[in-house]
Amino acid sequence: MMRIEIATLFPQMCESVVGESVIGRACRAGKLDIRCRNIRDYTLDKHRRVDDTPYGGGKGMLMQAEPIFRCYEAVCAELGEKPHVIYLSPKGTVFTQQKAIELKQKERPLFLLCGHYEGVDQRILDEIVDEEISIGDYVLTGGELGALVIADAVGRLCEGVLSEEVCFTEESHYNGLLEYPQYTRPPVWHDKEVPQVLLSGHHANIVKWRREESLKVTQERRPDLLKTAQLSAKDAEYLRHLQAQEEKN
Ligand code: SAM
Repeated sequence: MMRIEIATLFPQMCESVVGESVIGRACRAGKLDIRCRNIRDYTLDKHRRVDDTPYGGGKGMLMQAEPIFRCYEAVCAELGEKPHVIYLSPKGTVFTQQKAIELKQKERPLFLLCGHYEGVDQRILDEIVDEEISIGDYVLTGGELGALVIADAVGRLCEGVLSEEVCFTEESHYNGLLEYPQYTRPPVWHDKEVPQVLLSGHHANIVKWRREESLKVTQERRPDLLKTAQLSAKDAEYLRHLQAQEEKN
């Protein structure tokens, strides 16, 4: 079972999110093990202080190395092994579905370190962190939302969390493309009809339509993804057809 440790100054914020919905259900069913640790519990300071001013001056506070290190060591001792440590940071590699798949395949538990204030002392990063991950090119007040994004995206890939594997293998980004449009009952809503092919029951035609719609939406919204997606000769032909149509219009 996948184990994810979230080291944070705001464990309740994380617990309330991972305790809900699909991930919460999976944790209760023993399919996932996500634990939130309060870094403040590992400080030796009698006021439970975890931050201090930066050397060299500048505004804001920095999280100190020692409480984080003690938290990390407690987790290592509990696990009996070193987890894969990720520091959530706007300076990190931007998180993608491919990264979620890669993290799910790791043999080791994940340890997600959430920074706060102006960040954390560089020395703890140098000592324990395996990689830094950003959830996008913007700055948040803390790493918690990033850790929750990773826990959710990785957690839902784990066995038994979703009802069927096809739930995620056909989704946007899994195969390098965006997902085709989806419809449910009723067949006509506000004069808008569900595409006939989806009501036809003809499996091969439905698969072909979905692939083409997937190519179309990716071409329209994220043409950059087409450069790295695995495309068949038929896909390439369909993209050329779309291109020709666009030039005609
Ligand atoms: N001073 C830092 C800098 O300029 O790189 C930003 C610190 S930020 C205000 C506080 C914490 O929020 C960071 O330590 C990090 O853990 C988290 N954080 C902020 N933006 C993030 C992002 N885009 N992705 C992941 N974590 C982020």
